[in-house]
Parts: sequence; C-alpha cells; structure tokens
Amino acid sequence: MTTAEIQGNRLIVPHENWRSKKIYAYCPSCDDVFGVPKGESLNCTGCRRACRDVFEHLVERINTIWRFFEHMRVQDGPFGLFRESDYPNPWSLQATYRALETRWSLVEYGFEEPYTPWQIDEWVQTILSYAHPESGLIEEPFAAEQTNRSQEFFGTMYNLSNRLAEVFKNMDKPDVYRVPLQQLQHYDHLTSRQSTLDFLVRDLWHTNPWGMGAQTSYQVDRHERILHETNQPDDGMVALVHHWLDEHQDPQTGYWFGGKATMNTSACGAYKLICWLYRTRNWKINHLEKIVDTTLGLQTPRGDFGDNGYSCRVWDPMLLLKVGMDRLGDYRQEEIFDAAARVFLNVIDHWSDEEHTFTQDKSKPARILDLMQWAVVLYIGEFLLGVPIFGNE
Ligand SMILES: [Zn+2]
Repeated sequence: MTTAEIQGNRLIVPHENWRSKKIYAYCPSCDDVFGVPKGESLNCTGCRRACRDVFEHLVERINTIWRFFEHMRVQDGPFGLFRESDYPNPWSLQATYRALETRWSLVEYGFEEPYTPWQIDEWVQTILSYAHPESGLIEEPFAAEQTNRSQEFFGTMYNLSNRLAEVFKNMDKPDVYRVPLQQLQHYDHLTSRQSTLDFLVRDLWHTNPWGMGAQTSYQVDRHERILHETNQPDDGMVALVHHWLDEHQDPQTGYWFGGKATMNTSACGAYKLICWLYRTRNWKINHLEKIVDTTLGLQTPRGDFGDNGYSCRVWDPMLLLKVGMDRLGDYRQEEIFDAAARVFLNVIDHWSDEEHTFTQDKSKPARILDLMQWAVVLYIGEFLLGVPIFGNE
C-alpha cells in the first residue's frame, strides 16, 4: 500500500480543518465561486442551490487525468516516452519530462496511478538512455539532428537536464543523474564585477521583466553551486546582484521595471526574484505590502491576474500573495483567501471533460505542456487547506 492510499487524497480535507475562515464552493448554475463561514451549509449565495466545495470539483475531474497520459504515451518501444500535440516528432523529451514530473506530483498528493513501480523505473531508464556521453546532458535525438546541436540546442537541453535532475531527486533517485560541472560553468555570467553588471544592466528588464527575473535567479543559483562544488570562497558577486536588485525595485508597485511590459509579466518577474532569490536566501523583502496591493489589484473576475493568464501566469502572482500572507500576518488575509478561491474558475475554464486534462486553448488538442496548470490546483490547496507546496516561513 502506498503512502497515498493510506492518507487518501490530500486535497480532500474536512471543512473544520481548512485554513481559511470561509469554505469556498462552486455553483454550476451561477458558474461562480462563493464563500460561506465554516459550519454553515454550502448553499449558493446567489441562487440558494446546495453546492460542493471547490476541491471536490477539482479532484473528481483530475481523477480521470490518466486517460490523457495514456493518450499521449507512445505505446510501443521502451516505456515512458510521451509525444506532444504541437510537436512534429514521434515523441519529445520535454513532454516526457513534464509527464514524469506531473505523475510524481499527482501521486504525492494522493491520486491513484495506473503505473507500476517497475514501469516507473523503466520510464527513468528510458530517459537516462539519452544522456550524451560527450556533453553529459540529456539530449533529444530529433532536436539534436534538426538543429545540428547548435548553441541554442545546448541551452535548451541544459535546462531540461537540470529539471530532470530535480525530478529524479524528488523521486528519491538523486544519484541516477547529475548535470556535469563544466556545463554549469559554461553558462555562468557572474564571473567578475564587470560581467555581473553587464548581465544585469539591460533594457530587457523593461520589455521582459519575467525573463530577466528568471535569468537572474538562474545565474545566482548556478554561481553559488559552482563556488560550492569547486570549494571557492564567496566572491561577492551574489551580494552585488542583491544590492543592485534592491536599488532597482519600484517602491510604487513593489515590482521591478516593466512599464513597457504588461503588469502580469511584471508580476511574474517579481515572483522569480521574490520567491527564487529573496525568499530562499532570507533577504529582506522591501515594499511587501505594495506587492500584495498591486497583485490583488490585478485579479480578474475569472480568477487570472491579467493577460488571460494560465499556469505560471496565474501561480506566479498567487505566490507573491503567499509570501505576503506568510510574512505580513493578517494583512488583507481574507481578500487573499478570496483571491485564491477565485483562481478555481481559471482552472475549470481550462479543463476539458472530453480530453480529461487541462488545456490552454479548447480549440486545439491539449498539450502535455498544459499539465503545468496542475500546479495552480496545488497552490489553491496550499492557500485554503495549508497543504504544503514549498517551505513556509
Ligand atoms: Zn448559484
């Protein structure tokens, strides 16, 4: 019996144990979410119809998601290769990675899976068989051939290999694969004061604060790992990045730059910096109340935070609110719970009962990439139920 079977689904929690003061339910007639104080019956505040809570709706749908997995899994050949609907090749390592990661997470949260331990092991071995003897990266053969193993190809495979290493670690298989050190060093820009400033001072912050936020976090992670793995002392480059970021935060919004980008893109950029750098390193987060105010102000009636957001465009702003809730105590807490519950509408608006999965665009076949929306469900669970996703402070 697996841990999941003993515990049941972790998203089904008795109402008295919810973390929020209200219980949030969905009314299919009104197509809206509403909250009622704990202990009261879940009658729609609009039409009085008796309703079920938002997690019952989610779990019922997601229980069928394995049908989508099997639809996308390559049925002959070694076990564990997945295709992607908008990718021309017979399978894709990106899709295979995404399926493996989502499968792991679903099982962790108590969804019963159709796969055996033997199949999971073969799935991992199938992926490892594409580790290239020269680069040490896990390389997709179709993309290698089509790009002639270009610089861009290596960048993509480097990111993919890192993510796979992370999933193997989550699956308690940390020793099956490591990204080689020389690959880390190849992408390090924080090698001197000048190169660090050259990396930071870029117009790209204004047009793509999301991309710059992510790249900056990656650079710091990578540089710290190199220093650690080569036994070098701290060279002050991370502190330089930290100082530069503090200086460039906008005190009006709590975000960084933007102006030429949408507010949603700026929120996603702030998330990368706040959650991947400031929070993990325990740096003081300035203007946190402004961050909460700005982010709450972005939410739309259908639960996204601008730009018709989906997956990371939704959870990035959500997690800014989460950091606010963890660090600011009661500050706008009820509104934050309401906002998290409203995100439920974004999830069901992007769920396909026909395909048994999430989908960004219902006019096209669902993609494996769309499984990223599953994380949005987890984050709703963390807000309202206290189901841990990342370390709380
Ligand atoms: Zn109703």
